[in-house]
Amino acid sequence: MDAAPNCAICNAPAYPECPCESERLQIAVRQAETRAMDSRLAEIRDWVISHARKHILNAFERLTSTRKQAHAAYLASLPNYSIYMQYSGHPPLHPFLLGQLQAQISEAHAELKRGIDADWRASVVRYPEVLDYFYSLVEVRLPSDRAQGVSQPPFAVSGYVDKGYELSTTTKEKKKSRRDRDASSPPERDRRSRRESTKEDHSYTVVGRTRIPPMVPTPPIQPGNMRR
Ligand SMILES: [Zn+2]
Repeated sequence: MDAAPNCAICNAPAYPECPCESERLQIAVRQAETRAMDSRLAEIRDWVISHARKHILNAFERLTSTRKQAHAAYLASLPNYSIYMQYSGHPPLHPFLLGQLQAQISEAHAELKRGIDADWRASVVRYPEVLDYFYSLVEVRLPSDRAQGVSQPPFAVSGYVDKGYELSTTTKEKKKSRRDRDASSPPERDRRSRRESTKEDHSYTVVGRTRIPPMVPTPPIQPGNMRR
């Protein structure tokens, strides 16, 4: 007798395998991922964007402040500039000198504007690198397989007692004598086996020569859950 269960969706025999279950699983995973991750991803995205933007703006401010200082120093070095400022742009100068000075000033202003535009471009094109950096600071941590919440998830509330996934260990392992186990098993396996032995044993019970399947409660079926 083939012990593998039929397809839960279309009830076809387990072999050859039909695609229903893996398709439904993919859908369920996508939906669970949306429920679990969307709000967290949005929170992470907001954090990364705001820090990246702050960094880019600060870097831009640094670039332009250096440039503005150089600009001011250049203007101050121009002949007659201080008298030009003193008379608010109308100094008592020969028109030729004044014209020359005004041309130098307006060229310097245009140069400053070009420089600031270049600084801004140079800052903004760094976004991919800066976003990568701040995303790299975000930690996504998977729990240890030994954590109790992982080995014994609290699904009892959903209608049946969940024994955790530890019971899936093979009966062969359980048949090993205690002496054998204590002598040769790694500490983790040993601890696990001991915990198991304190629980109800779900492995097949041998009565005479007949192997009787254990009475395992059927999980409550929640129709529509996979379908939504
Ligand atoms: Zn099927």
